[in-house]
Amino acid sequence: MPRGVYDHHKIRGRANETARKDYSEAIASYESGMRIVDVARIQGIRPQVMGKIFKRRDVKIRPDRAENCYQWKGGRKISTDGYVLVYSPEHHRADRNRYVKEHILVVEKAMGKSLSATHPIHHVNFDKQDNRNENLVVCEDTGYHAFLHKRTVLIQERR
Ligand SMILES: [Zn+2]
Repeated sequence: MPRGVYDHHKIRGRANETARKDYSEAIASYESGMRIVDVARIQGIRPQVMGKIFKRRDVKIRPDRAENCYQWKGGRKISTDGYVLVYSPEHHRADRNRYVKEHILVVEKAMGKSLSATHPIHHVNFDKQDNRNENLVVCEDTGYHAFLHKRTVLIQERR
């Protein structure tokens, strides 16, 4: 059999398999508020496949919130400038995609209050993704933050 035809046959076979399976439990879980990614994980299938199965069975798919997104990676990702971002839709410093830099969350938790953008947070070991409390220093302003960087360079040069 030519390769393409065989592959197509294989895909059809898999689709028939999912069509036969009983997904009433998965549907009940989703309709009771469980996220599609979690339902899919329990079923051992990918979220986009779960979505297709639901659509085929006329399950009403909830509005596309980030956590229902097929690309959902647990609410953590790396920003283009190298910081860890955490999905925090209610946060006062959430970006337009509702993510906040993790180091802000760590500092705010330690201080027990919110931190304004006028106070930069410095990573002591210069690893932007090392957001352990002991690696973070809250700066009075951008000037002090710049000073910390300059100071580190001077110390390194003296060695
Ligand atoms: Zn810094």
